[in-house]
Amino acid sequence: MKTIKDLDIKNKTVIIRCDFNVPIKNGKILDDTRIKESLKTIEYALAQDSKIILLSHLGRIKTEQDLALNDLAIVAPVLEKMLHTKVHFLNATRGPIVENFVHNMKVKDIVLLQNTRYEDLKGNKESSNDQELGKYWASLGDVFINDAFGTIHRSHASNVGIETNLESAAGFLVEKEINALSSLDKPQHPYLVILGGAKVSDKIGVINNLITKADYILIGGGMAFTFLKAKSYEVGNSLVDESHLEYCKDILNQYSDKIILPVDFICAPTISNDNSVTIKGLGEIASDEMGLDIGPQTINLFSQYLASAKTVVWNGPMGAYEYKPFQEGTNCLLSFLAEHNIKTIIGGGDTVAAVKNKPSLAQNIYHISTGGGATLEYLEGKDLEALKLLN
Ligand code: AMP
Repeated sequence: MKTIKDLDIKNKTVIIRCDFNVPIKNGKILDDTRIKESLKTIEYALAQDSKIILLSHLGRIKTEQDLALNDLAIVAPVLEKMLHTKVHFLNATRGPIVENFVHNMKVKDIVLLQNTRYEDLKGNKESSNDQELGKYWASLGDVFINDAFGTIHRSHASNVGIETNLESAAGFLVEKEINALSSLDKPQHPYLVILGGAKVSDKIGVINNLITKADYILIGGGMAFTFLKAKSYEVGNSLVDESHLEYCKDILNQYSDKIILPVDFICAPTISNDNSVTIKGLGEIASDEMGLDIGPQTINLFSQYLASAKTVVWNGPMGAYEYKPFQEGTNCLLSFLAEHNIKTIIGGGDTVAAVKNKPSLAQNIYHISTGGGATLEYLEGKDLEALKLLN
């Protein structure tokens, strides 16, 4: 993969595709991690005396109302503070305002253009990789740096479209992510996969790709109950994905020794912070109860498997993690992996949020991936669209 260090960007106009897709509520940025993650590449370009054009998407634009909700102007002052230098914002994605500004830029100037997905309002131009749009954005600069790992699996005008028309390389964030994830292509064994979260359907691609590569797949979270039901256990009111029962039966038949399922559960009648909970064993969940976290015996069982692991990849929480009574399973496995210094790669939104709640443990985790869909697609063994042209 070509990276920013492989290109001569001195005094050049550099277009950097960042991922400023930050969560926003009531006009406030709730989490600025993604902006922080972009700094290294921007600072490097500043040190090289580049003229810097920043592009990013924010949210989805389907209606006129989405425009105001996803106005990228909100990012400019935050970025400015972090970089200690002026960040100009242009409320345009193209046209004379953009061209005149770019034409007059001096070295170390930084300009952020409006949300690339504003181009989706009429004709989905960004998200369908409109050829003319990619070519237009490419015409604004001398080189292109793709540092938006979150959209690296998509073929959009602001990544693939520009890469097709301009000399391109990966930024530091994309480089860090790909280096970590590609270490899973030749993992040190024992190699264990932990999967959790709500739905089996979201993880089928990962299971199919990793079942032959990993030594064991430990399955927790809501998705475990479809597997348990496929084995004819009573699961009460727990989350079951009926349409994937056959899939679970088949994969369990084929790989019964590799797929490790929970043996006990923290149960409650509904998902809430207020219910009293009970611990139930296999087949003991009552018809009016839901299994909402893995129980202590399962934590023990999973820890025994993890104890000898040399590589672990984890996607999806072990329970309904947003609620306090159901955090123990996820937290205990996280502590185990951190304390035993097991090379662990964590990817996927909810699992990442769980780790971020425990900064002292997070620092012992080998890699915490920033890309939800992108990380999943990598784990599914798919080609990442916008990466192909950087290789
Ligand atoms: P995912 O996006 O597939 O990783 O799923 C994350 C979601 O799964 C979170 O919102 C969790 O609350 C939910 N989840 C995890 N375990 C359970 C469970 N046992 N029952 C219901 N929801 C769960």
